[in-house]
Amino acid sequence: MISNTNSKAIDRFKKLQQKIVSVDTMFKAIIAKDTAALSKGITLIESTQYDHSEKAQQLVEMCLPHANNSVRIGITGVPGVGKSTFIEALGNLLLQKGKKVAILAIDPSSSISHGSILGDKTRMESLVRSNDAFIRPSPSGKSLGGVAQKTRESIILCEAAGYDVIIIETVGVGQSETAVHSMVDFFLLLKLAGAGDELQGIKRGIIEMADALVINKADGDNFIPAQKAKNQFTKALHLYPLAQSSWTPKVLTCSAMENTGIEDVWKLILKYLEITSTNGFFEKNRTQQNKFWLLQTIEEQLKTSFYNNIKVKDKLASQIDAVQKHKITPFTAAKYLLEISKDDLG
Ligand code: GDP
Repeated sequence: MISNTNSKAIDRFKKLQQKIVSVDTMFKAIIAKDTAALSKGITLIESTQYDHSEKAQQLVEMCLPHANNSVRIGITGVPGVGKSTFIEALGNLLLQKGKKVAILAIDPSSSISHGSILGDKTRMESLVRSNDAFIRPSPSGKSLGGVAQKTRESIILCEAAGYDVIIIETVGVGQSETAVHSMVDFFLLLKLAGAGDELQGIKRGIIEMADALVINKADGDNFIPAQKAKNQFTKALHLYPLAQSSWTPKVLTCSAMENTGIEDVWKLILKYLEITSTNGFFEKNRTQQNKFWLLQTIEEQLKTSFYNNIKVKDKLASQIDAVQKHKITPFTAAKYLLEISKDDLG
């Protein structure tokens, strides 16, 4: 007769076996370019269930040797600038060139706004219909770090599934641009002419991150203003110090709607890749990004375990109250909370 403990152990073993088989099956299907398996794999990555996260890590690690072989492009810009229209135009051009294109998004606000970017797939109608394009809306999540990690892992799966170009879309708000910039090879900022932020108002940090600034909607009455904006931005960009990549960011105009100027954007990206592959920056950048994400993940997990610590949860409100009433300093309160959290952290 099998004891209760033994039968539990057998169950656990069976479950473990099933898990290994299913991750292995999923992996094989992904590298065989099975889109349904890729979708399932990403769903596993996005799952918040503990046993899923273990499986997801196994899957990502299996895919890793098959990854790292794509061009990763980040695209940002304020809502309405034409990101979806532009991605559709660029995506179609790449499909014509025989490339396979995956489009992912990072939008930490999507859990609140129910997917403000890429949520509505009809926005990229022709890409959706193509077998060589894969579109995935932003994962939902509370913290940008968590959302970004999921997108990073999804990139690995897409690469293992044979996608040559991975486009990461994000909205021009908050910190999400920094996150996207830290996971792509080329970062493109879409802008509008005459949007009131020609030179001064534009967020300096974003300009510094951009490898190209593309002024969209250069059509109709907007054609001339777009050329003027291009000249202004080009002059302004020359004032910035030379980037680590030795690449001076370029300014272009396009009309995503009329499909003009898109080929020039792609040529510019190819030029960038040629220069940075030759001078070694391409590889160096990816290595630095890996280090950045390692440290970022540690920070994120330390923070999560700190705030989930029972003793911290119990004392946090009273410590905040005491600080607000000037009874203790923020430094003392922080030191105390960190101290009581230590037992469980260590
Ligand atoms: P997103 O919010 O940045 O993704 O912007 P969308 O791609 O959804 O575009 C917002 C609006 O701008 C839509 O009505 C598009 O049809 C329009 N639009 C996008 N690109 C262009 C363009 O090149 N020229 C013009 N005139 N309109 C465009």
